[in-house]
Amino acid sequence: MDHSTRAAQFIRNEARVHWHDQALWYVRVKRDKMAQSVPEWENLREIAAQIKAHTMSRLPDYLEMFEENATRLGAKVHWAVDAREHNETVYQILKNHGVQRVVKSKSMLTEECHLNPFLEARGIEVVDTDLGERIVQLAQEPPSHIVLPAIHKKKEEIGELFHRYLHTEKGASDPTYLTESARGHLREKFLKADAGITGVNFAIAETGGLVICTNEGNADMGTSLPPLHIACMGFEKLIPRARDLGVFLRLLARSATGQPITTYSAHFHGPRPGGELHIVIVDNGRSQILQKPEFRRTLSCIRCGACMNTCPVYRRSGGHSYDSVVPGPIGSILSPAQDPQRYYSLPFASSLCGSCTDVCPVKIDLHHQLLAWRKELVLQGLIPFSKRLTMKVVGWVFQNTWAYEGTGRLVRWIVPKLPRSVLYNRWNVWGKQRELPPFPKESFREMYRKRKVQGSEARNRK
Ligand code: SF4
Repeated sequence: MDHSTRAAQFIRNEARVHWHDQALWYVRVKRDKMAQSVPEWENLREIAAQIKAHTMSRLPDYLEMFEENATRLGAKVHWAVDAREHNETVYQILKNHGVQRVVKSKSMLTEECHLNPFLEARGIEVVDTDLGERIVQLAQEPPSHIVLPAIHKKKEEIGELFHRYLHTEKGASDPTYLTESARGHLREKFLKADAGITGVNFAIAETGGLVICTNEGNADMGTSLPPLHIACMGFEKLIPRARDLGVFLRLLARSATGQPITTYSAHFHGPRPGGELHIVIVDNGRSQILQKPEFRRTLSCIRCGACMNTCPVYRRSGGHSYDSVVPGPIGSILSPAQDPQRYYSLPFASSLCGSCTDVCPVKIDLHHQLLAWRKELVLQGLIPFSKRLTMKVVGWVFQNTWAYEGTGRLVRWIVPKLPRSVLYNRWNVWGKQRELPPFPKESFREMYRKRKVQGSEARNRK
């Protein structure tokens, strides 16, 4: 199923679309205010982009440096070429320690590798401890946003879910009450867990340390109580030096939720006393992206979600319509790199307005890459014939002034005369949610020409 078909399911509920759109726009506005309050914001973005580009250009060296330093600090480093190897590695570690219950903080990588179902099928209980993640886990849904996983859910729906699974009062939808109930439920899970699994926001090559950012402190809880900590990271999480960290920490929270800093930034340098720290470094298609210079910048992403919050298509079509672990503009260029056949429609889920590029804290040229992917997918023969034909015709019309003007004239004359059933039917997907604007009698070009003539006549009369 392509993006537009799935988006059609979401936009059936107009009220939800409006509310989803507004909720994300609110975050985008907060982000703008925060960015404007930092005079050196553009410098920070530039420095971050350069640090990431430099790291990717010397990735093998930095990976080795990180492994050496992390091992020196007492961590055990594992390498996984793909999702299967990642899941097997995590499972083997858990099995060797006789783990039955795991608490997990937010990690898009483990989502990407489908770790939860893998472990659950082997008899291990996995509880997501980020509140939004726990909500979607109880609802048996994937996250719809990388920072706000349950942003598509209304508080009434969450109340119903909690009533069913956490036995809260029926009909309760007060966010404070629901949050406190979830906290009580999670506290129990933290206390009983045998191991904590986390993602990684930044891995520092120079020190071998890890940094994990959360707003709920759940990564700290999940790693302080159980003796075993497994940190799963894609290799793009590396940064070279500890002093680079400040640049990214200043950008991340401001871009993500419009906060000056994430509430908890936990630093891990080796295992805690008496505990074990395992770090699983995953490729899973990333080295293929690294080999393509035109798409390499994608790997600079720090998963702040700002491109989603600003994207007019994402805000109005919902995260699930992308059917991808990472939705929105960044997901639309990451996913086709991993599976072009499945995700061929995603680069078209964009108006190419460039707003994503404007907000990206690491300056990924998202809308250019979306365009480049469209070309790539056409070359790979993955775009349906009907779409290719339409684009060819439209391209030809745009290239020929006489055809453009003639088509405009014809459309302006004929469309207002057509009955509604001809204009709004199941073949006109565009018209499903929208009304055509009233057609003017003349084109802008015609009006401009007329005024020019009138203007010169008036000047001549003077
Ligand atoms: S592409 Fe940029 S804006 Fe989008 S999630 Fe990644 S870092 Fe944030």
